[in-house]
Amino acid sequence: MSTSSMPTATTVTDIPEAMPHGVNMLHNPLFNRGTGFSAAEREAFGLRGLLPARVLSMQDQAARILENLRKKPTDLEKYVYLNDLVDRNETLFYRILIDNLEELMPIVYTPTVGQACQQYGHIFRRPRGLYISSEDAGQIAELLANWPIDDIRVIVVTDGERILGLGDLGAHGMGIPVGKLSLYTACAGIPPAMTLPIMLDVGTENKQFQTDPLYIGMPHPRLRGEAYDAFIEEFMQAVTARFPQVLVQFEDFANHHAFALLQRYRDHYRVFNDDIQGTAAVTLAGLFAALRLIAVEGGPRRKLSEQRLLFLGAGEAGVGIADLVVSAMVEEGLTPEEARGRCWFVDSHGLVVRRRDDLAAHKLPYAHEHPPLADFLTAVEELRPTAIIGVSGQPRTFTREVIERMGKYNERPIIFALSNPTSKSECTAEEAYTFTGGRAIFASGSPFPSVKLYGKTYNPGQGNNSYIFPGVGLGVVVSGARHVTDEMFEAAARTLAAQVTETDMANGRIYPELSRIRDVSAAIATAVAEIAFREGLATEPEPDDLPGYVREFMFNPTYDPMV
Ligand code: NAD
Repeated sequence: MSTSSMPTATTVTDIPEAMPHGVNMLHNPLFNRGTGFSAAEREAFGLRGLLPARVLSMQDQAARILENLRKKPTDLEKYVYLNDLVDRNETLFYRILIDNLEELMPIVYTPTVGQACQQYGHIFRRPRGLYISSEDAGQIAELLANWPIDDIRVIVVTDGERILGLGDLGAHGMGIPVGKLSLYTACAGIPPAMTLPIMLDVGTENKQFQTDPLYIGMPHPRLRGEAYDAFIEEFMQAVTARFPQVLVQFEDFANHHAFALLQRYRDHYRVFNDDIQGTAAVTLAGLFAALRLIAVEGGPRRKLSEQRLLFLGAGEAGVGIADLVVSAMVEEGLTPEEARGRCWFVDSHGLVVRRRDDLAAHKLPYAHEHPPLADFLTAVEELRPTAIIGVSGQPRTFTREVIERMGKYNERPIIFALSNPTSKSECTAEEAYTFTGGRAIFASGSPFPSVKLYGKTYNPGQGNNSYIFPGVGLGVVVSGARHVTDEMFEAAARTLAAQVTETDMANGRIYPELSRIRDVSAAIATAVAEIAFREGLATEPEPDDLPGYVREFMFNPTYDPMV
């Protein structure tokens, strides 16, 4: 497989007949370099006079963009400004995003993207990706045919029903697939022309949007039941017929659909759900790294299968994490029953136990034989977990008492407060460190600044899914894996944990620094592709040098001469 036939900005010299000319060149974001076009390119593509005479380097252009960006008074304005840039010059956008990932990831993705989605219709300028509405049922193949590029490899699709922690944002949820795909490109080098964001606009229950004249979607109530299932089925068949090598990532579907869709399609198509499986892998990696950190410090060398996990929240994230933890514990020698017995849940009605009759299907495997307990603190006292994992969306639920108890029962309590955004976190980094006398191993969903305490600096980890999904996607793309398996996510977790260096650990980090994310993604992609080749799941030829091939595949935004 080669990317050389793709109209990416770095490979345009291979397909001169497909190159636009004159103003069309300047209006095509895949090719446009603006003032960065060299004299020879200006001559060759009919651009003389259409640009100011002075040729700027990419670095100069980037400096100008950053200067303007940093003057914007709000993050939402920065988001809009960067969207304008990607609509003008994708190569420059990705150069800037890659080189300033720590600063810009919170703008192109959470938390700012959440704000952007809430106001999507009001900040709307140009469409990106495909919008398929329930009115298009029966004609989805025709809509897909309108997309101008045939070789699409990664689609992120949502129906907008559960956008981040913000609920039903309908078609305004399109900001999420758009943002997520920009991270596939920035973090793992998936060429942007190979990506396609898709909104399945099946309506919305959001009353505010239903009456907002600037809402961009269909303002009717959501399609439900059999009609919904048939619509999704038509989409899956049409999209895989149009783009046979595509990986479809389900994103921000509501709980009841997310599990069902994954279950229905995972053995038939190349699909995964990042909210369930990506979250699971990044959290499992955090657990592996925490155990490594304890051992490196001279503490006991404990296995994952010796841990007892207590989750607050039994939704997509929580159950997804537990399922992957169970499969990793089974690999360490436990039976599935023993492994599930090490994972406990508290949901909004208390401890998830066998005798409850109000449990959704996805919680049943974790409903253990135990008397009911009403609250989380009592569950901590009764079960004495080694790790607590907050995925409830409920702020401040890891109270002082909860954290202190964790510190009492464990020398190094593992406390992951994963709910997003920061305002929803089950506790702050400072609380976790303060109430355990600095002994907590802490990670959160949204970034927290370092904490200075007892003359020491504590660096909280961020269990950011971006450590996982771009690398997994790249591994699936280079191997053409027919399915995305649990083994791949487990390998991704182990690889991510192994990427945490001794220096990281000396600084208390359980995730690598974000600046190394492209190396991390390349390592994960290699591990995932190895599984695909070994297990006979690959549909692409196996390269002799897989790590080298993965590297070579990765899109690197530069201005290589076009002529
Ligand atoms: P979800 O809606 O599927 O699940 C939420 C769960 O929390 C439900 O089981 C619900 O019953 C439970 N809950 C609600 N109120 C509760 C309470 N007061 N006490 C106990 N349980 C309660 O949502 P999800 O997709 O599982 O996401 C949950 C949270 O995890 C969100 O805040 C999300 O931002 C976060 N998350 C973080 C990451 C990450 O850090 N990488 C990834 C995915 C999700």
